[in-house]
Amino acid sequence: MNLSQKTAFELAESCRAGKCSSEDILKDLARAIEAKDSSIKAYVRFDAKKSLRRTVSKEAPLYGVPIAIKDNICVENEAITCGSKILQNFVSPYNATVIERLLDAGAVIFGRTNMDEFAFGSSCETSFYGPTRNPHDLGRVPGGSSGGSAACVAAQTAIAALGSDTGGSIRQPASLCGVVGIKPTYGRVSRYGLIAFASSLDQIGPLTRDVRDSALLLKVLAGGDPRDSTSANVPVPDYLSFLGKDIKGMKIGIPKEYFKKEGLSPAVEKAVRQEAAQVLEKQGARCEEVSLPHTAFAIGVYYIVAPSEASSNLARFDGVRFGWRHPSTGNLLELYEKTRGEGFGSEAKRRIILGTYSLSSGYYDAYYLRAMKVRTRIKQDFDEVFKKVNVILTPTSPTPAFKLGEKATNPLEMYLSDIYTISANLAGIPAISVPCGAEVRDGKSLPIGLQFMAKPFDEGKLFQIAHAFEGTRI
Ligand code: GLN
Repeated sequence: MNLSQKTAFELAESCRAGKCSSEDILKDLARAIEAKDSSIKAYVRFDAKKSLRRTVSKEAPLYGVPIAIKDNICVENEAITCGSKILQNFVSPYNATVIERLLDAGAVIFGRTNMDEFAFGSSCETSFYGPTRNPHDLGRVPGGSSGGSAACVAAQTAIAALGSDTGGSIRQPASLCGVVGIKPTYGRVSRYGLIAFASSLDQIGPLTRDVRDSALLLKVLAGGDPRDSTSANVPVPDYLSFLGKDIKGMKIGIPKEYFKKEGLSPAVEKAVRQEAAQVLEKQGARCEEVSLPHTAFAIGVYYIVAPSEASSNLARFDGVRFGWRHPSTGNLLELYEKTRGEGFGSEAKRRIILGTYSLSSGYYDAYYLRAMKVRTRIKQDFDEVFKKVNVILTPTSPTPAFKLGEKATNPLEMYLSDIYTISANLAGIPAISVPCGAEVRDGKSLPIGLQFMAKPFDEGKLFQIAHAFEGTRI
């Protein structure tokens, strides 16, 4: 078997036993990338010879395993673009904490994956470097914004990858590409060295081929960090120990509001609400209908809060200190205008304008402040439901992968596809997407994903149920 087809868990064991080396794995990956990536374009940069590693003991959990990194996470002395022209030629001055943790765990850092510009999007089409394509159908999107990370894991051109999730950017591409993606609890993983999109929502997490790898990677990534004041000093359990525990008696809530949506594909509804629920009940879990009454406001709230924070975070990209600068400028104002005018793509500009508007004096109370109040209600809905159930089961995305260009000219339609994922970010709770079937469209079998959500810091429960579910499908 080609090494690029194995999981991180298997490869770490093989490297430890001396059956293969990280060089062997990288060689197989390089071959796979050469064969497939010119059509998928999951990578913005890849150089097998330039991988980064540390000398660690053989006991290290990711000993010898190469991990691909989304292009918004800093790796010291390496270019990082966030899929934007404005960061062209910018080199990271330091390692993100997650990179330090991966290196200390024996992982090999290689390859940067494509993304929507500054993580704004659900299709990977807003990248300055052009779109990534879905390995299951090259005419379709891989999802976004971590579309490159999901596509390379699905195409077996990476073993596992890091992504970031502000409103679904790990889970939705995982669902559309048929891989596993977890957005941890807000504060669970340090964001030091992640280029910020919306600071009250962003989290880093892994995209992997299976649930065991997801647990293995999160164990390495999680934990408090003095360099990120929003990270939480909550002890990190051994997530692998949750795998294989039975789910007898576990209570699963199915929110009725999530199945009322027009635009929900009947095949997705059936795969989640009927088939997955049945499979879980057969294992002794109990499903019950629950209500999250403020669900209808989530998109509206998110598309005020996230652009507001983005407009403030992106103010620093002005051509003076970072990245690309417009070459012909007469004075400072013109420098700002031309650099930002030509450096940002249209979705980034749309977000900056939306956010600046809702934060401006006279509108702040009506938009931002109001959105923050409704956000609290959304969080309270979850608090109430988690008094009754252990996890919530929903679809990850209302449809399987859509066609390239299908929603690109209609931002509102693109925003609406985030309906199931954004609430977890607004509430700060953890959520995982796991493959749960396929829908055939135009003769191609397209993956469907389901989502489990849990209480803050209850990722262990997510791994337990996701693993139990996954086991019934292999
Ligand atoms: N699709 C959502 C957006 O466009 C979420 C993106 C993300 O999680 N980074 O904002």
